[in-house]
Amino acid sequence: MKNKIRGVFPPHNKNTAYGKVEKLPVPPEVHIPMKMHSGKPAIPVVKVGDEVKIGRLIGEMGGTVSSPIHSSVSGVVKRINERDPVTGQKAVSITIESDGMQTRCPELKPQIITCKEDFYNAIRDSGAVGLGGAGYPAWSKLSRVNLDELDYIIINGAECEPYVTTDTYTMYSDAKNVYRGVQLLLKYMQPKAKVYICIENNKRPAISVMQEIFAGDDRVEIKVLPTLYPQGERKVLVANVTGRVVPEGARLSEVGVIVTNVTTIAVFARYIKTGLPLVYRTLTIDGPAVRNPKNVLAPIGTPLRALFKYCGLIGGEPKKIITGGPMMGIAQPSMDVPVVKTTNCVLAFPDSADIEPKVTVCIKCGRCLSVCPMSLMPPNIEVSYENGRLDALRHYKVNMCVECGSCAYICPAKRPLVQVMQLSKEKLWLDEQKEKGIS
Ligand code: SF4
Ligand code: SF4
Repeated sequence: MKNKIRGVFPPHNKNTAYGKVEKLPVPPEVHIPMKMHSGKPAIPVVKVGDEVKIGRLIGEMGGTVSSPIHSSVSGVVKRINERDPVTGQKAVSITIESDGMQTRCPELKPQIITCKEDFYNAIRDSGAVGLGGAGYPAWSKLSRVNLDELDYIIINGAECEPYVTTDTYTMYSDAKNVYRGVQLLLKYMQPKAKVYICIENNKRPAISVMQEIFAGDDRVEIKVLPTLYPQGERKVLVANVTGRVVPEGARLSEVGVIVTNVTTIAVFARYIKTGLPLVYRTLTIDGPAVRNPKNVLAPIGTPLRALFKYCGLIGGEPKKIITGGPMMGIAQPSMDVPVVKTTNCVLAFPDSADIEPKVTVCIKCGRCLSVCPMSLMPPNIEVSYENGRLDALRHYKVNMCVECGSCAYICPAKRPLVQVMQLSKEKLWLDEQKEKGIS
C-alpha cells in the first residue's frame, strides 16, 4: 500500500447528526435472531410460553466465539423458529410478544469490577459485539489479545459511510460512557499500547466533546482524520493511522493493533454501570424515501416496518431497503426483517433510485486503481475472474479486497466490480476447500 490515503468522496448526507435520539414505541412483537454476531450462534434458554422481562438471558453463548442474547421487551415467548421466516436463513429466532410494560429484570444490577477477569466477564455478559457492522464479540477480541505485543488500540469513530450518524451520536451525546469504557479498559487491561479515538474531520462537534472529556489524559489521543470513504474500514484505518499493513489472511492483532467501535465501548461501560445488557440499538433511519429522517432507540428485534411507520415513508412501500450504509450495507428482502445488534442504519429508497446502471466496456481509465484503498487492480481481477484464472486472482491479491465499493462507485463504465471481487474470493475459497478435501 504505497499511497496511504485513497478512497472516494460520496455525499455525506449526515442529515441526522446531532439531533436527539427518539425512543421508538414498543412494537407488539420482536424477532430476536440467535445469530447477530460472528462465531457460533447463541443457544435458546427459554421455551414457548415463558414470561420474560427486559434483560433476561434468552440465548446463551454457543461457543468460545459467541455472544449471549437478552430479551429487549417484557412479555411472553411466542415462537422459536428453526429457520428465520423472513430471510429464509437457517438461524434460530425467538419471537416475543410484548406486554407493553417494558418491565426490567429485577436481577439487573451494576457490576462490581475488581480485576481483569471481572472486566472481561462483564464485557462478555453485556452482549457487546462490534457495532460498526462486524459483529465480532467484544469479549473474544479484548480478552484474547496478547497485551505484550499490542502497540495500538484504535477506537473507531470514523463513521465514513454516508447517512449513518449513530457513532457520532455516541461521541457527542453519550461521551461519558465512552470515557468510562476507555478508563475501565486502561485500568483493568493495563495495556502499554497507545489509545487512539479516530474521528473524521467532518464531525467537529463530536471531536470537540471527545477532546474536552479526554483532555489531560496522555494515554488517549483524539486522532482527527481526513473525511474520505472508506476511512473507517478496519484495515484501512490501521494503515492510515499506524502505517502498518495487515498482510493477506492475517488478523489485525498480528500487526500489534486492535480496532473496536466507539459505540461498543459505550455499551459495555453502560452495562457495568447499570447492569442493562445490549437490548436496545440506536440507529439512523434515513434515505430519499423516508419522510422524517431520525436517529431512534429501538428494541433489538423490532421489525423494520415499525421504524418506517414511526419516521414515515414518501410514496408507500420503498423499492429498496438497505441495512448499514449505502456503500457496504446489505439489501433487505422485506420490511419484516428485524433490527439486530449490528444494525446501525436503515435506508429506504424509492422506485426512482433503483435504476439499473447501464454497464459498458472498461475504458482503461484507471480511476478504480487510483481510489482503491488496498492498492488493488480491479480491471485485472475482473478479467482474471472472467477467464477462470485462479492463479491470477491470487497474484492480484483479491483476498485483500475489503469490499468497500470505491472502485464501482468511481467507475464511469459502471462495471459491477464489487460483485466480481466477492465472487472471485468465493471461487478461491471453494478451491481451497477442494484442495483440503472438503467439498
Ligand atoms: S477492489 Fe476492493 S478494496 Fe479496492 S476499491 Fe474495489 S472494493 Fe474496495
Ligand atoms: S474505473 Fe471502470 S472503466 Fe476505468 S479502468 Fe476501472 S473498471 Fe475500467
